[in-house]
Amino acid sequence: MIAVVHHPNYVTEAPARSTYRWGKNGAIRDLLRAEGEAIAWHEPAPAPRPWVEAAHDPDYVAEVLEARVPREKERRIGFPVTATVARRAQLVPAGTYLAAQLALRHGFAANTAGGSHHALAATGAGYCVFNDLAIAAVQLAAEGKRVLIVDVDVHQGDGTAALTAGHPDIATYSMHAEKNFPARKARSTLDVPLADGTDDSAYLAALGATLPALIDQFAPDLILYQGGVDPYAGDRLGRLSLTDNGLAQRDLLVAKHALARGLPLASTVGGGYGDDVLAIARRHVDVILRLGRAYLTRRQDAAPSFASPRTGA
Ligand SMILES: [Zn+2]
Repeated sequence: MIAVVHHPNYVTEAPARSTYRWGKNGAIRDLLRAEGEAIAWHEPAPAPRPWVEAAHDPDYVAEVLEARVPREKERRIGFPVTATVARRAQLVPAGTYLAAQLALRHGFAANTAGGSHHALAATGAGYCVFNDLAIAAVQLAAEGKRVLIVDVDVHQGDGTAALTAGHPDIATYSMHAEKNFPARKARSTLDVPLADGTDDSAYLAALGATLPALIDQFAPDLILYQGGVDPYAGDRLGRLSLTDNGLAQRDLLVAKHALARGLPLASTVGGGYGDDVLAIARRHVDVILRLGRAYLTRRQDAAPSFASPRTGA
């Protein structure tokens, strides 16, 4: 079975004045439900406030949790932070953390939301309220884990890089379209900027030429994977030219390098934009299923233990 983290409150009505398509999480849930017994469902509790404050400015955390985010920040985020949105924002980072814990136990787990990589210390941005990747990584690092965040969303993981910069036990990898949002890039541990229109073969060559060395150099205990599907050629906000097969090869290449080193991997969703919400949800679910199956196949082949020696669990 594939461990999947989901919470009913991930699925919310679109707040007024929202430029974000909110139907995606419900469609992801439904597509995974259709997989029946193949999925083992897990539900997170809201993230403890100190976890969120370990990554974000406490004043901004208060603004979100009390649903009084200034309009200027809401404009940067792309939607108003209502009480419903705030509740969701506190759940999603806990979901990414729970997926990481499940991955440490089983090899792989997925959060059906998250990948909110643009959220910065004192404000959200680009449809991201709290940065679940940074919050989860900082908490995991506090528990003694070394975390590599691999972000292959078409947009740079600027918030994640900024929130974890200088942390000795967190490294960030971002492969993205150089000319895409955000205009001002942060510095990840390793950035791989790509030219507009990059296709499958050039993309996969760049990934294969850069990621393995970083994994070996940093020697993480686990990988958090932001598997945005917006590098897809038809994406409204992407600038790259990947096919569905290219996305599949991307995920499998990351899984191959993680599995070869016995590394657990927890995935989040991420970007994916366009009018056909169901098609985008399908791509997110395909990421989860192909990673989950890659780990299941490997476990049956070799039965490696994914429990870290440091946890003893
Ligand atoms: Zn994106």
